[in-house]
Amino acid sequence: MKQYKIALLKGDGIGPEIVEQAVKVLDVTAKKFGFAVEYDPADIGGIAIDNYGEPLPQITIDKCKSSDSVLLGAVGGAKWDNQPSGKRPESGLLGIRGALGLFANLRPAVIFEPLKKASPIKDDIIGDNLDIMIVRELTGGIYFGERGRGEDDGMPYAYDTEKYSVYEIERIVRVAFDLAMKRGKKLTSVDKANVLESSRLWRETVNRMAKEYPEVEVNHMYVDNCAMQLVRNPKQFDVIVTSNIFGDILSDEASMISGSIGMLASASLSSGKLGLYEPIHGSAPDIAGKNIANPLATILSVAMMLKYSLGEQQAGQAIENAVSKALETHRTPDIYEDGKIKVSCSEMGDYVCTLI
Ligand code: NAD
Repeated sequence: MKQYKIALLKGDGIGPEIVEQAVKVLDVTAKKFGFAVEYDPADIGGIAIDNYGEPLPQITIDKCKSSDSVLLGAVGGAKWDNQPSGKRPESGLLGIRGALGLFANLRPAVIFEPLKKASPIKDDIIGDNLDIMIVRELTGGIYFGERGRGEDDGMPYAYDTEKYSVYEIERIVRVAFDLAMKRGKKLTSVDKANVLESSRLWRETVNRMAKEYPEVEVNHMYVDNCAMQLVRNPKQFDVIVTSNIFGDILSDEASMISGSIGMLASASLSSGKLGLYEPIHGSAPDIAGKNIANPLATILSVAMMLKYSLGEQQAGQAIENAVSKALETHRTPDIYEDGKIKVSCSEMGDYVCTLI
C-alpha cells in the first residue's frame, strides 16, 4: 500500500479547527482509495513564536522537507501583532515558501453551482461551472528585486525593481502550460508588455515555449485589461499565468468572483513533487475556537494536494465532488442560505466524510 507523509502546520486562530476537518476527510479518502497517510505536526506562525521564539523554527523546515507534502491552516492573531517585522507570524509564510523553493502559486477561482448566488457577479455573466486557474510566479519579480531609497537634490525617493530571468519565466510558464494541457487547453499570459521591458521578455518566452505545446491556444493580455475581463467575461479564461505582483492582485480579484473566502484553496509548488497546500483565507481570529469556521477551503486544499503532489487524481476528484454535493444541503454560517441545514465546522467535516 502506498504511504504518504504529510507535514501538518495547523498554525493559529481557526487553523487547528479547519485542519482537523481536512485530516478527517483525507483519512476517509485514503481508506477508500487504498493508500495510507502519516502526519507529522509542526509549528508555524504565532504558535511557533510562543514555543520557539520565532515564526519558522528550523525543525518545521526540516519536517516539511522530509514530507511528501505540507498542509497549512493559517497564521496570525492580535497576540503577536506587536512583534518586530521579520518576527511576525506572517513572516513564517514567506520563510517557508523560500525554504521549500515554492515558485508556483496555483489559485483556482471556482464557483460551485449551489453557491452561485453568493457571487457578486450576475448569473448570466458567470454562466455554468466557472473554473479558472491562476498561476502566479511566487519567488521573483518586484517583491524580491533590488530596492532602496535615496535623495535627488534634497527630494527623497524610493524604488523597487521588477527583474525576471528567462529561467524564472520558463519554469513558471511550463507549470501553466502543463496545467492547461490537463484542463481546457487554453492559456492566457498576462503582462504589461506595452510599457515594461521585463514583460516583453516574458511575452517572448511564452511565445517560444508555445511551440512545444501546439495543442494549447495561447493569448496575451495586458494586466489592466485582464482586471476588467475577469469581471466582464470570466468564462473566457481557463489558465492564467502571470508575474508575482500581477498575480497577487488578479488572484484576489478572481477569488472575489466566487463570493466566499471560506471556499478557496491554493497550492504552492516547487520543482519537485513537494507542495504546500493551504486555504487562501487568514486565521479569522474573530471566529476562532467557536467551531463555526468553514473548513471547505482547507478540505479542497487537500484535494489539490492529492492531484498535484501525490498523483492521486481520482481521490482528489472524489473530495471535490463530495464538497459540491455537501453544499447542496449543508452550510456553515458564512455561506448559509434559507432552506439549507446550518452546520458547525466539525459537522461539515463529518458530512463531507459521509459523501466520499
Ligand atoms: P481573514 O481571512 O482571517 O478573515 C477575514 C474575514 O473572513 C473575517 O471576518 C473572518 O471571520 C472571515 N473568514 C476567514 N476565513 C473564514 C472561514 N474559513 N470560515 C468563515 N469565515 C472566515 O483575514 P484578516 O481578518 O484580515 O486577518 C486575520 C489574521 O490572519 C491576521 O493576523 C492576518 O495577518 C492573518 N492572515 C493570514 C493568512 C495566512 O495564513 N495565509 C492570510 C491572510 C491573513
